[in-house]
Amino acid sequence: MKGRKLLMIPGPIEFEPEVLQAMGIATNSHVAPDFINVFGNCLELMRKVWKSPKGQPFIVAGTGTLAMDMAISNLIEKEDDVLVVSSGYFGERFKDILNCYGANTTLLEAPIGEAVSVEAIEKELKNKSYKAITITHVDTSTGVLIDPKPIAKLAAKYNVLSILDGVCSVAGEEINQDEWELDIVLTASQKAIGVPPGLALLMASEKAMKVWKNRKTVVSNYYADWKNWLPIMQAYEARKPSYFGTPAVNLIVALEASLKIINKEGIDNRIKRHQLLANAFRKAINALDLKILPNSNDIAANTLSAVYYPESIDGVALRTKIASSDVIVAGGLLSEIKNNYFRVGHMGSVSANDLVSVLSALERALIALNYPIASGRSIQVFQNEILKN
Ligand code: PMP
Repeated sequence: MKGRKLLMIPGPIEFEPEVLQAMGIATNSHVAPDFINVFGNCLELMRKVWKSPKGQPFIVAGTGTLAMDMAISNLIEKEDDVLVVSSGYFGERFKDILNCYGANTTLLEAPIGEAVSVEAIEKELKNKSYKAITITHVDTSTGVLIDPKPIAKLAAKYNVLSILDGVCSVAGEEINQDEWELDIVLTASQKAIGVPPGLALLMASEKAMKVWKNRKTVVSNYYADWKNWLPIMQAYEARKPSYFGTPAVNLIVALEASLKIINKEGIDNRIKRHQLLANAFRKAINALDLKILPNSNDIAANTLSAVYYPESIDGVALRTKIASSDVIVAGGLLSEIKNNYFRVGHMGSVSANDLVSVLSALERALIALNYPIASGRSIQVFQNEILKN
């Protein structure tokens, strides 16, 4: 399509045509039997994507921040001690939410482009009796990927609830909620799950549900309280009508379409595709002598790449040139270095063709701004990487 723009930001992403078509259906009643069935299917399919056969899924109209708020407001009480592990902007957001509910927070913050070490986390857990630990799987502001497995195992060892922000990772990075003993894994629809913005998705472990049931104080958030939503999720799963707040009917129909696509590809295959494309993309970026923000490849996300602008290049001019080739990438987000880098989303339905388009637009923009590279260099490296597999 002439003039079609390719949206390559880290969410919202490019959505599958079947998902967009599903959204466009005539809106059904939220208690119609066929919609009840769609909702029930979504809850069941979520367990497969999260690898959490024992988990309690929640689907609520809202954004990823609501999913974070729901986790904290239901599990944390005033004066609870919570360890916040941060590798950027979204780690800090957990701290802000926790402050709203009167928790005592300890922030373990990695230097920019780094991840907090498992040793540092264990030292802190030994030091103090925490109720919960929050982890950002992929911090979208830095593109830093954390391995949640050893952290969740440590949390289980010290009897601390583990809360994973998977907004930029669920359905794009490896997650095995039950086996890794993660208590909460939450996300939003507009990222690797592949549905337009508007749904907060969360999976709670049996232990998390028990902690919530045994609270000493009431949940001080009306909309997010599981007391209101748990019976609704249970009713939909039992294929029975119920009501608390009107569900986002069309988004949920789209979610079913996307979860079916994800499960058809196979979650493991989907993760591998993300790894393969991200790895090839990083090599292509390096071939242009551009630097990736995460300090090592082991902690570089597979759902997005954060890339420093070359020193000689004005960032706004570069992104404007890229946009003039109908490719949309995102600017920086972390306030300290906001103007020094840009971000490319590569999650969900992303293909090698999409990333070739990004590299092509990027090369043309760099050349137009007199950055000394040979045209086609990054595309060749990308192509060779893809051909290896
Ligand atoms: N956490 C992470 C890691 C995110 O990337 C985002 C959104 N970019 C959020 C939380 C917040 O999600 P939302 O914008 O949907 O509220």
